[in-house]
Amino acid sequence: MLVKLEGILLTKVLYRERDLIVNLLLRSGRKIGVILYGVRSSNAKKNRGFAGVVGVASVELGQMLKLEARKSKSRGSDGLFSANEWSVLWNHRYLRGNYRAFFLLCFYLEVLTKSAVEEEIWPYDGHRSSGQRQDEMLFAVASNAIFYLERCLRQEPSLERHKEIFLAKILYALGIAPNLKKCVFCGGDFIFDAEKFLLSFRREEGGFVGSCCYNQNFDFAKNLFLYRFLHDALILNYAQLIEQKTARKNVTDIVDVLFDYLCYHYQWWKSDFKSIKYQV
Ligand SMILES: [Zn+2]
Repeated sequence: MLVKLEGILLTKVLYRERDLIVNLLLRSGRKIGVILYGVRSSNAKKNRGFAGVVGVASVELGQMLKLEARKSKSRGSDGLFSANEWSVLWNHRYLRGNYRAFFLLCFYLEVLTKSAVEEEIWPYDGHRSSGQRQDEMLFAVASNAIFYLERCLRQEPSLERHKEIFLAKILYALGIAPNLKKCVFCGGDFIFDAEKFLLSFRREEGGFVGSCCYNQNFDFAKNLFLYRFLHDALILNYAQLIEQKTARKNVTDIVDVLFDYLCYHYQWWKSDFKSIKYQV
């Protein structure tokens, strides 16, 4: 039984001499593990007319791959599919040559690998579970994040800006973004009074406390930027956010707050992210 799969390469591990075990993020927003059996690049043309087939040597993180995979009966229930032939649907070019951007890509892929759930494909009839809308949003965030990162590398991009947009979008895709409508303490609507409008971000409660529940022990000073940014990230698409000029001098604050929030709600340790220590 063959299934056609398209997905973004999340992880790859060399297996034996010429094979790779990879994880793909499918369009459904779910992930799947596949063994790619080595095809030497020089032999590629000899492969039975499968357009654009490439060897494992040119399989890279962040690529969009298309493949036909099968689950052999002998492999039982380890969840892995296998593929002898695959092609690259989309590839990046600049990301490889910019190590800071490459580690940001690795960070994206780590977050996606940790948060995506496994795809369920019934082995013998090819039936695939249909993804939830939120899962599909995860794929959209992933493909936008990588595409715009690659595109911006032709100029001098602010990688921190890319990172904060990715983090905000992924919080919405995962359904855990902070509530922007109501005060998390009293449940009342925020009153947008320019003079008195104050907010304090509450990571544990998953939202903001308004001036309705003012407490001098909370930091009410810095959170308006965060609120505005999350609001923009909700209503604007990826391209609009990338184009948007931000008046904030320091975007690192928001990156830190959002990453901290994501880790808290998924109970991840920041130290588990290998890509972090390489990021500038
Ligand atoms: Zn309140």
